[in-house]
Amino acid sequence: MERIILKRKIAPRVVNGHPWVFSNEIEAIEGEPQPAAIVEVVTHDKKFVGRGYFNPQSQIPVRILTRNREEQIDADFFLRKIKACWEYRKHTGYTENCRLVFGEADGLPQLIIDKFNDYFVIQTLALGIDRWKPALVAALQEVFSPKGIYERNDVPVRELEGLPQQKGFLSAPFETRIIIQENGLQFHVDLANGQKTGYFLDQQDNRRAIQHIVKDATVLGAFTYTGTFEIHAAHYGAKSVLGLDISKLAVEQANENARLNGLQDRCHFEEANAFDVLKQWVKEGKQYDVVMLDPPAFTKSRATIQKAITGYKEINLRGMKLVKPGGFLVTSSCTNLVHPELFLEIIAMAAKDARRKIRQVCFQTQSSDHPVIWEMENTQYLKFLIVQVL
Ligand code: SAH
Repeated sequence: MERIILKRKIAPRVVNGHPWVFSNEIEAIEGEPQPAAIVEVVTHDKKFVGRGYFNPQSQIPVRILTRNREEQIDADFFLRKIKACWEYRKHTGYTENCRLVFGEADGLPQLIIDKFNDYFVIQTLALGIDRWKPALVAALQEVFSPKGIYERNDVPVRELEGLPQQKGFLSAPFETRIIIQENGLQFHVDLANGQKTGYFLDQQDNRRAIQHIVKDATVLGAFTYTGTFEIHAAHYGAKSVLGLDISKLAVEQANENARLNGLQDRCHFEEANAFDVLKQWVKEGKQYDVVMLDPPAFTKSRATIQKAITGYKEINLRGMKLVKPGGFLVTSSCTNLVHPELFLEIIAMAAKDARRKIRQVCFQTQSSDHPVIWEMENTQYLKFLIVQVL
């Protein structure tokens, strides 16, 4: 087998369990591994570290799949892994809809599989895992006998791996607009055209966290996508709910979701740029009992992290000013580049500038079907915070 020999003087990260081998950590390559080949990774003194997939074009030429010398990487390996992923979700109570495979956190780097009841959406974000798509599909067929499997590989990050962006059926074609249940509510999900894999499963527990604070409240939501938080708010007894999103398609789906749950009289959605509208409404002196924000990542690279910090601060400042004294701000951040401590600092800065005192009601992360590996920063990405704004 072709071998990747690590440099002597590198951080013990890879040996200690991190699956990524960066190009500047490689001393030498034995043999001529083809792109997507399975290679062995060894230390400078040739001690076995693990086996992983190779892509010379990537800045991360190897991602490790196993550290067990006896374990071969074949279709059966992926079947065992999928079964293990499913066992974990069953143990932690995420069965109907869940992130079945959360990449690195499940030992399957750059692989995402979301389960929406009987339907599955796959993303293979690196060349070395993309090659195993048929084995992954076969494993899903064997374990779940799904009604449909869809590929959402229309993501720019694939281009860094020399892969095309693409989407389509990996099973017989099926109706990709489905309805899922969450916390007793129903939601339309468009697996083919929705954002990411169609639905943000990571907030499923956090949506329940607003239950008590929204009772009899006037609620403003921004960055609502298909309206999940807002529809929960109406369901939990909010007096009136207005949701804003910049995407026309998202707003249409959100209003449809409100109707689907019979909540359209108290909950509706409008197309708007939240930055502009919130600024305007602060000027006009509008006030709400609860303001909810769930903006996009703002940046994907460390180089432009300041842009994200500024974005989060601005929007939270505006959101806070719209909260009545004693009301609540519900705010999220989904980029791993802004770590939890930094996020709290940003909110503290926003409160200072808004001249408001805040107190923390709860601070959570993504749901447990997206487990966090402490050594892998990118597995802890979601921050979900509720503060009372005094
Ligand atoms: N809360 C949602 C997920 C929100 S994703 C859920 O749980 O399902 C972020 C959303 O912000 C996307 O729908 C995107 O269309 C929207 N968005 C991005 N920039 C925006 C802007 N400037 N104003 C309003 N919405 C925006």
